[in-house]
Order: sequence, then structure tokens, then C-alpha cells
Amino acid sequence: MSTTIAVDVGGTQLRVALYEGDEGIPYQQARIPTRSSRGAAIDRLIELIASLWPAGRQVKAIGIAAPGPVNHKAGIIYAAPNIPGWIRLPLRTILQERFGVPVFVGNDANLALLGEWRFGAGQGHHNLLYMTISTGIGGGVISDDRLILGESGLATEVGHVTILPDGPLCSCGKRGHLEALASGTAIANYVTAELSKGRHSSLSDQPALTAKDISKAARAGDPLALEAFARAGKFLGLGITNYLHIFNPSIVILGGGVSQSLSMFRETMDRTIRESVMSPEFIHNLTITTAALGDGAGLLGAFTLARSPEEEMI
Ligand SMILES: [Zn+2]
Repeated sequence: MSTTIAVDVGGTQLRVALYEGDEGIPYQQARIPTRSSRGAAIDRLIELIASLWPAGRQVKAIGIAAPGPVNHKAGIIYAAPNIPGWIRLPLRTILQERFGVPVFVGNDANLALLGEWRFGAGQGHHNLLYMTISTGIGGGVISDDRLILGESGLATEVGHVTILPDGPLCSCGKRGHLEALASGTAIANYVTAELSKGRHSSLSDQPALTAKDISKAARAGDPLALEAFARAGKFLGLGITNYLHIFNPSIVILGGGVSQSLSMFRETMDRTIRESVMSPEFIHNLTITTAALGDGAGLLGAFTLARSPEEEMI
């Protein structure tokens, strides 16, 4: 039996897991901080993989979930947010030359979707939309059992579609994108702006608000916090409706920190979708649910990609 190595490159942690066979249960894993004074992330990642390299066993492949846009064909990371120096980084070539085994690289949101599809909430479905809602909004789409990647691997930037022309500024520099209206950052920005107008809230005295604080306040019944989530739910509903019209999925999987507050925005999201779809057929057999794998989805996706890259990515 051969070993498959999965790597998840996160903004805060580099994670490596070793699997045997097709079971998605690692027999060994380790994690280190992404940033360290002990050297560049790429050098420490190589060191970590080498330290876990299984003696006397054959390694089939290495699969990597990387942040930011990725050219999956060439294995190049265009620009990884939060990792200094990872600009046009030929990660596949670097690791193949060092370890002498095939290396496959995918965008982390796409690979989280692969993980959810094979091992999590999306099992048994053929048409899936995945959205991860945290500080930003990312995602992926599987259409007729194929991950949609696009010409250069840039497809399905589901957070960067215009929902509100001339709306708030997005992290990408454009205005009115879904991410600027419904991400955790957007929810916090909305509450902060309302507070500065003099609105009363249990959050008034908190200095740096996060979506988590607002979720807590919403659960306790704070009207402004509830309104912030309801507003985000409406924008998410509009975004999801657009994707229903384009991809006609049978399941929408919501991941990321904000998805844990689904009960706070589910009503407005569902209502907006019901009111916005062009035909009820789009939601007739539609499941909308939260992700099942938590922060392990990227690793499982990288494992899935490394086990059968031809099937998953082409
Ligand atoms: Zn954007």
C-alpha cells in the first residue's frame, strides 16, 4: 500500500497529513505556523514534509491546498494572501524536484469542496455549490461531477460578483461585491458604521468588533446584531440565486466561520432565494446546508486530488 501526502497551506498554519489507501483518515499529521522568524515558509514546509517522509514506504503523490488563485495545470501559486514572497511561486516544480514524486496543487476553496464532496456534506451529489464565508468569501462549483476551474484555474470566485453597484469597497479593490456585503468583515463593518451613527446596541462599548462578537450579541437578541445578519442573509440569497440560475446545483454547502451563525441569517437568505429565483424548479430539490468537515476539508481535498488527479481536476 502506498502513502499519499496532503498539505494545507493556510495563512496561519502549514498542515501536512499522511494517508494510506483510500480512507480519509490520516495515520500521521503535523502542523507548524506559516510565519516564523526561523525561515521562509517554503523552506520550512519542505523541512516538515521531509521530517514526516515515511521510511520504507512508497509515496504515491503530494496534494496541496493553497490559498489565493492557483494555476492548477502548472502548479503555480499566483499570489497567496498573508504569505510573504509567494507570488508566482512554482510550488509543483519545487516540490517535485525535491521529493521526486508527482505533486498536484489546487486552490484551497476548490479543494475544500472536493473534500466535502468525497467525505462530507456533499456525498452523493453531482452538482454542488460551495461557499466559504469568513473574513472573505470564496468557493467552488462541481458541475456534472467535474470541478469547474476555467482556462487559468481562476473560475468560481463566488465572493467577487457585483450585488450592489457602487456599494462598499471589496478586498479586491472593486465595489459592491458579495464579499463586501456578506462576509464576516462586511457584517462587522456594517455594525461599526451603524454604531458611529449613534445607534444603540449591546455592542456599543466594544472596541474592535468581529462577526463572532456580533453573532453572540445576535443570539442574545441585540436588534442591531440581528439586523446585520439578516442583511448579510439577504445579500447571500441574491448571490446564491445567481449561482442557482447558472449552475442549477442540488446542494449548496456553506462553510467558514460565518456559516456557524446560519440560524441568524437563514430566514432572510431563504426568503430572498424564494423571491428571486426565476422558477421554483431551481429550489424544488435543493438542499442548503453547512459544511461537515470544518477546517479539515482542505486537507481531505488535497488528499482526494493527489489520489486521483485526472478524475478530479481535468
Ligand atoms: Zn471583490
